Amino acid sequence: MTTNLLDLAPAALADWLAARGEKPFRAQQVSRWVHQRFVDDIGAMTDLAKASRSALAVDASIAGPTVVRDTTASDGTRKWLLDAGNGNAVESVYIPEDDRGTLCISSQAGCALDCAFCSTGKQGFNRNLTTGEIIGQLWHANRTLLAEGVTAPWIDQGRPPITNVVMMGMGEPLANFDNVVAALHLMLDDNAYGLSRRRVTLSTSGVVPNIDRLREECPVALAVSLHAPNDTLRDRIVPINRKHPLSELMAACQRYIPAAPRDFVTFEYVMLDGVNDQDTHAGELIALVRDVPCKVNLIPFNPFPGSEFRTSPRARVLAFQDRLKHAGLVATIRKTRGDDIDAACGQLAGQVQDRIKRRLATRIVPVQVQPGTPST
Ligand code: SAH
Ligand code: SF4
Repeated sequence: MTTNLLDLAPAALADWLAARGEKPFRAQQVSRWVHQRFVDDIGAMTDLAKASRSALAVDASIAGPTVVRDTTASDGTRKWLLDAGNGNAVESVYIPEDDRGTLCISSQAGCALDCAFCSTGKQGFNRNLTTGEIIGQLWHANRTLLAEGVTAPWIDQGRPPITNVVMMGMGEPLANFDNVVAALHLMLDDNAYGLSRRRVTLSTSGVVPNIDRLREECPVALAVSLHAPNDTLRDRIVPINRKHPLSELMAACQRYIPAAPRDFVTFEYVMLDGVNDQDTHAGELIALVRDVPCKVNLIPFNPFPGSEFRTSPRARVLAFQDRLKHAGLVATIRKTRGDDIDAACGQLAGQVQDRIKRRLATRIVPVQVQPGTPST
């Protein structure tokens, strides 16, 4: 079987080349070709001897993702839907801003944690993405944007289009720990993407033991999906809370602070009308996070077909934010981007997955067409 070079973290690439008799500095050269020049052909690595290139090409390739759909919203937000096999797809979302280019990437096809308000959770768990599929999203975005001639001041200075990565796409990154950490090492490596730890954010719903492992192995910026200020409510809307309740989660956040690249953690809090957005909730939240240096990011709920929640009215979100601010917390409201292309977590993949599955089902078993079934 050939090795996909995108699957190899820096140390693994060095070992892989050493096993083939190549000198250590070759790893740096190969890494730059793959992750900085975005080649997909070993033959193009012209500072390697022809014989080396031919030998490596026998059992290695550079296999990026297959794009199922490519959509750009009116505000420039762009979503790539990437094939994950068996009728599944994952998303990466590019968010261009004046001073940065952010890529939101996925870590799993589906998610097992089943948060009540999440479209990815509703799709169930399919599988972990490989390291190559995770870093491949960053490789693909940079490569595509450069090939299309995207412009930005930092690109003129020789930096790649994507300056910031957020692991806030589909899946729970800390439930796919090894592959995610290998991809993070590539993001930070100077011979690969060279991003600083403060420009890489991992969002977790609270897999507590792996928050500690992340702190030890690769402490990037941490965002925690809190969404509820007490265990009763959080047990209901973020079910992993039943395994790792708030007291454990807050303690893990405190332990993370000394390693955190910007001395705080971000708490994400999706605003659900009448569920977690009342003044009493704000009061509980203030008390809960008192001992953790943090910023709170209030997220307008993004409804999807079949979701049981409504978005909190704008006035309620502002009142909630005010309460937090008066208590001395830094509280921001997330801008919604790419609304017209369903850029929020898991939404488009869910629709496409349904359609692909329906199509596969039609091919494999003779299904009776229900009256009113949309023809896709
Ligand atoms: N599994 C990780 C990362 C992916 S989700 C986590 O849960 O943190 C990224 C963020 O989007 C999380 O804060 C998640 O709670 C939030 N989210 C999920 N569904 C949403 C929806 N329908 N509207 C708004 N935010 C949502
Ligand atoms: Fe999984 Fe995160 Fe969605 Fe929860 S919010 S189901 S952890 S992707």
